[in-house]
Amino acid sequence: MNMPRFWREIQGRYNLIGSRCGNCGDYFFPKRDICPKCHRKSIGKMDAVKLGGSGKIVSYTVVHDAHPEYSDMKPYVMAIIELDEGVRLTSQIVDCSPEEVRTGMRVRATFRKLAEDGKEGVIFYGYKFRPE
Ligand SMILES: [Zn+2]
Repeated sequence: MNMPRFWREIQGRYNLIGSRCGNCGDYFFPKRDICPKCHRKSIGKMDAVKLGGSGKIVSYTVVHDAHPEYSDMKPYVMAIIELDEGVRLTSQIVDCSPEEVRTGMRVRATFRKLAEDGKEGVIFYGYKFRPE
């Protein structure tokens, strides 16, 4: 993967930019160039769309063994979230304790620091989800 593409994808993930198929109307995230249902019929019809960022928790797991880098915030919750557009993605749930998390709970995307590369001083940002 070359750098310009890498940065474009970071932009898309940061802004929750997905794709909508102009043929069947389905949404996808991350962005894709071809709809897996429509194949050739979707070529040139995939529109970039900004997803609303609201959805519900489909399933979740409480992670107790955190990577040393994240040791200050364990245990934490990783969840599969279905956005209102029908797209599913995996993300950490923040701003609530693991005991409060429920399947079906409404959540909303929020942008947080994901990790810091101490050596290089680079900070990575991305989306996490919090109760709506
Ligand atoms: Zn399609």
